[in-house]
Amino acid sequence: MPKVKNATISISPLYLLRQIRDVMAQAATAQERLDRVVAIVAAGFASEVCSVYLLRAGDILELYASKGLKESSVHMTRLGVGRGLVGEIAANAEPLNLADASSHPKFEYRPETGEEIYSSFVGVPVLQGGKVIGVLVVQSKLAREYTSDQVEVLQTIAMVLSELAISGQLVDTQELKTATGGLMSQQLMGVRLSSGIAKAQAVLHQPQLVITQYVSADPDHEKERFENALRSLQESFDRYIQTAGLTDEDEQLQIIETYLLFTQDRGWLSRIHEAMASGLTAEAAVRKVQEELHARMSQMASPYIKERIQDLEDLSNRLLQVLLGTETALEVKEMPDTFILVARTLGPADLLDYDHKRIKGLVLEEGSMTSHTAVIARAMDIPAIAKVEKATSIVQAGDLVILDAEGGNVYVRPNDQVEQMLDQSIQQYAQREAQYMALRDVPAVTKDGHSISLNINAGLFVDTASVLQEGVDGIGLYRTELPYMTSDNFPEVEAQRQMYASMYKQLPGKRIIFRSFDIGGDKKVPYLHAGEEENPAMGWRATRIGLEHPGILRKQFRALIMAADGQPLHIMFPFIAQVSELEAVRRIFDQELKDSEVKPSLVKVGIMIEIPSILWQLDEVMQRVDFVSIGSNDLMQFLFACDRGAPHMAGHYDTLSPVMLRVVRDVVNKAKQHNVEVSFCGEMARKPLDALALIGVGVRSISASASAIGPIKAMVRSVSMPELEAYVAYLLESSDPSIRQWLSAYAADHGIVV
Ligand code: PEP
Ligand code: MG
Repeated sequence: MPKVKNATISISPLYLLRQIRDVMAQAATAQERLDRVVAIVAAGFASEVCSVYLLRAGDILELYASKGLKESSVHMTRLGVGRGLVGEIAANAEPLNLADASSHPKFEYRPETGEEIYSSFVGVPVLQGGKVIGVLVVQSKLAREYTSDQVEVLQTIAMVLSELAISGQLVDTQELKTATGGLMSQQLMGVRLSSGIAKAQAVLHQPQLVITQYVSADPDHEKERFENALRSLQESFDRYIQTAGLTDEDEQLQIIETYLLFTQDRGWLSRIHEAMASGLTAEAAVRKVQEELHARMSQMASPYIKERIQDLEDLSNRLLQVLLGTETALEVKEMPDTFILVARTLGPADLLDYDHKRIKGLVLEEGSMTSHTAVIARAMDIPAIAKVEKATSIVQAGDLVILDAEGGNVYVRPNDQVEQMLDQSIQQYAQREAQYMALRDVPAVTKDGHSISLNINAGLFVDTASVLQEGVDGIGLYRTELPYMTSDNFPEVEAQRQMYASMYKQLPGKRIIFRSFDIGGDKKVPYLHAGEEENPAMGWRATRIGLEHPGILRKQFRALIMAADGQPLHIMFPFIAQVSELEAVRRIFDQELKDSEVKPSLVKVGIMIEIPSILWQLDEVMQRVDFVSIGSNDLMQFLFACDRGAPHMAGHYDTLSPVMLRVVRDVVNKAKQHNVEVSFCGEMARKPLDALALIGVGVRSISASASAIGPIKAMVRSVSMPELEAYVAYLLESSDPSIRQWLSAYAADHGIVV
């Protein structure tokens, strides 16, 4: 069917909204108002039909008012959520804009409405607090395309209608509460940050701000409310700057100043004023502009813009809180005993604010595998998934959520069937966990008697029980940067000493490898200014910062030496690119050691092998250290020029590439030659098949997150070493990008548990 461009049909949103506002102000029943609104919208859109469907109990959408469809079908036509075009909109909470409705696969013909003669169809969800409570539809005989601006006008009208819909006069509010339109069982996809599977009620990190009044008859009053709210927000920022004593050096001050600049942004202000002039309340205007900007800016890929979106979002939310009055604005929900936390983004400090015993899982819209939050989630051993689009708008507080981090899936409000199926997976997962638990008391030894040292990667949280099991030698990587990231300033010596000393106390007799701070890069600390860096991962981070500011390093070394207090101290320096850096950092450490009154009983010094340049200085390195630890997270990203923080790059190179494994083999051989201990602490070791390959190239010491120990131990106990080594050596000759499929087949054939 030929499409007609829509240039001739101009819709004045201002005029339409004013008319609707007048209708809302008139003394009439809700049904009468609804009837008038649909007539106004049909005329405004120069379309024959405008209809409103509202949600009834049992997920039924009932035709509540229509201009254009047969009158007899009003209150007669009913559709299930998910059925037909209207049901599709309710299910997905997304608009549909079709020039030829009947060719859409979801089109269902309803003879009683007489709608077969209408060709074009545009429908938008009527939302309340992120939940679909109805659908607003415009149809016309002409096969025309509605513009995105027109769809937007319709969305604004839908916002206004939601106020009418929740008045309780059309559909009993109780009924609306139980209806779950747009809240159908949904499966969302994301990227796994931390393994596991969990089932619990959802808690939204930032509770939704619920607007109950959208239309106002007095735009001047709304403008005044807006101005007052803005002023009070600006004043609260000013007060904060003064009481917190922020100086020009503070990054916080810069952030607040950016916010203050936004509050004066002419474009932003004029959009809000325009929306209020059209008849929206101040809060509805702020929300409308917030959503428009979010939609527009999130199309852009620049990380700078993404950060600005976050700032704007935050600012708008603060403004909404002032306008709505926090007490009424926030849906005060009781926190369930255990829950799955859902957030757009979440900083490490935010995550640490929650009781880690109650938080069962984490679902994020943004974030990546190596973000700080991911590191902490793994340290807390909670399953976590990121890159789950629209999670915060689809998941409602209190919804049942099943998070299957293994498969990268989030099941929201699962129906009985899905729930049953997933309960089975949860059970299987629990059984596997139980099997691993049963391995707690057995050593990590291969079938032919080779011991593999298993260690745990930790930082802040240490699941001491997992370190104290048989076959776990200690902590192979203690990331000390987490306290730097979560405090307001560099932690003082005593605070650090206490933290490190508590590790010794909790894990008597176990080896703990403390890594000096690897701050910077993606592990930003708010009080350290690196300036703008295009590639922070290759920028001012870790030991580089320490060598420029030796005072910070000295404090950490002092704290570690004091914490060891007569026990062995294992210290490892990250991000070493040249032997000279190792020598420089070592000099600082040795000086601290010399100056300290208390001495550790033993000192072992090592470095991370994570920058490719060091691969050609291995002899010199090995002569100067007691141990090395291979960090594949960084090493892999630099070897393959493949950003570890970019999820879309994740599939480009396999960790089981023969190239990567040859590098590991060479490091292992060089270490052996020099009688230096070598271990592997990169994330890839957490997967049993990857750990199998590492063992195949000679790695005998692995450090991974606590949850990975059981599966790795099970794998180790099913391996026969000489055969594995010979086969992996053979596979390493391959020029294929990955040996995964061959190794996987080998494991299956040889009964290796991976
Ligand atoms: C690594 O780079 O592999 C590593 C273990 O360190 P981090 O992930 O802390 O950079
Ligand atoms: Mg690293």
